[in-house]
This record gives sequence, C-alpha cells and structure tokens, in this order.
Amino acid sequence: MRILVVEDEPKIARAIADGLVAAGYEVVVADTGEDGFFRFFSKPFDLVVLDWMLPGRDGIEILETIRAQGHATPVLLLTAKDAVEDRVRGLDAGADDYLVKPFAFPELEARIRALLRRAPVGQQDQLTVGALELDVQTRRVTCDGRAVTLTLREFDVLRYLMQHAGHIVSREMLAKDIWDETERATPLDNVIDVHMARLRKKLDADLIVTVRGVGFVLRVGASS
Ligand code: CA
Repeated sequence: MRILVVEDEPKIARAIADGLVAAGYEVVVADTGEDGFFRFFSKPFDLVVLDWMLPGRDGIEILETIRAQGHATPVLLLTAKDAVEDRVRGLDAGADDYLVKPFAFPELEARIRALLRRAPVGQQDQLTVGALELDVQTRRVTCDGRAVTLTLREFDVLRYLMQHAGHIVSREMLAKDIWDETERATPLDNVIDVHMARLRKKLDADLIVTVRGVGFVLRVGASS
C-alpha cells in the first residue's frame, strides 16, 4: 500500500512517515503543496495524508483539484482548524476524513486502516434500487441513467443505504460499519451529515429520507 504524505512541518512529516513505514506501508513525503501535487499525479497512491495549511498551494486547493479530475483516492485531511465550519469545508472539498492536530499516531493509523479497508466483494456486484444502479466492481453509480461521480466514502455510504433500502440505517450503524469506529475523539455526526448532504446533492434530493433522531432511509421505488 502506497501512501503519499503532504506535510510541511518536518517533525510531523518524519513522525508520520516513520510510523507508517514501521506499520508496513510504502511512504512518499512531500513538503510543499506543489511537490505533493506533482507526486500525486506522477504515481498511483492508495491513500493521501494531506495537511491543510501548506506553503503555496494549500491542502484544500490540492484536494479540490484531485476531485475535480475524478480521482477517488481516499484523502485524510490533517488540520489545526477545529471549528465545525472548517471540518465541513474540508469534507465538502472531498476529504474522506479529517484529523485535528495534535493527534496521537495510533489514531492516524486507525483512520488510515479504516479508509483503506475495502468491504469484501460479495456475490452481489450489481445493486439496483429504484432509479439507482451501483456496480461494486467498477464502483460506477448511475441515477436515472446519469453517471454520478462519488468519493470513496460517499460510494460506501450509498452502497450501505442500498443494501438496507427501505430500512432505517442509524448513525451508529454507519459509524460502526462504514467508519469502522464506535467511539472516537471527535464526533462523527457532522461527517455523516455532510456525506448525506453530498449524496442528496449528487443524486436525487428526495431519495434519502432523514428520520429525525434515528437515522436515514433510502426510498425504495420511484421518488416522487
Ligand atoms: Ca502545515
């Protein structure tokens, strides 16, 4: 597994790189936004650990460009920005998860493991719910025949909703089965809400129904 670490603070970059190498990952470190950008497009990576505040081209700019070009590579955003609006902005830019500095290395490693974890391929590679079609193998999603580009996490959430179509999917189920965590230092609620909002925007706003205080339901059959 190849991980690109874009971090301009040498101490942090070295600590992350040493830890990941010790954990068996192949690591490439870039210390500026430009370098990170160049390296991302020069070789395929399985995951990017991306610092937000970088000299020159910052993390958000890099992230938006990566996503605009259709790359679904999981991105874990590192940030000292802890306000809810900052987190939402990071997730809106296409981050799959974020980690607030300072953090403990085991937490970073756990987040990376969760992002890299791919659900085992089941017998059912094609899911169809109403106007939605999803192909697990190719990760292709269409809504009313229109191709929809989703991030890795959005895809996982949608697949989960489709597998439970017509039934309530609770936040706890999503936290456990998609984010692989039942407890963490920062609450997942914002992250889950942002992913739902993005899916509604990209698909059909009426498809995912919020059941207040309980969770979400993907409508079965045609949306009205
Ligand atoms: Ca920085």
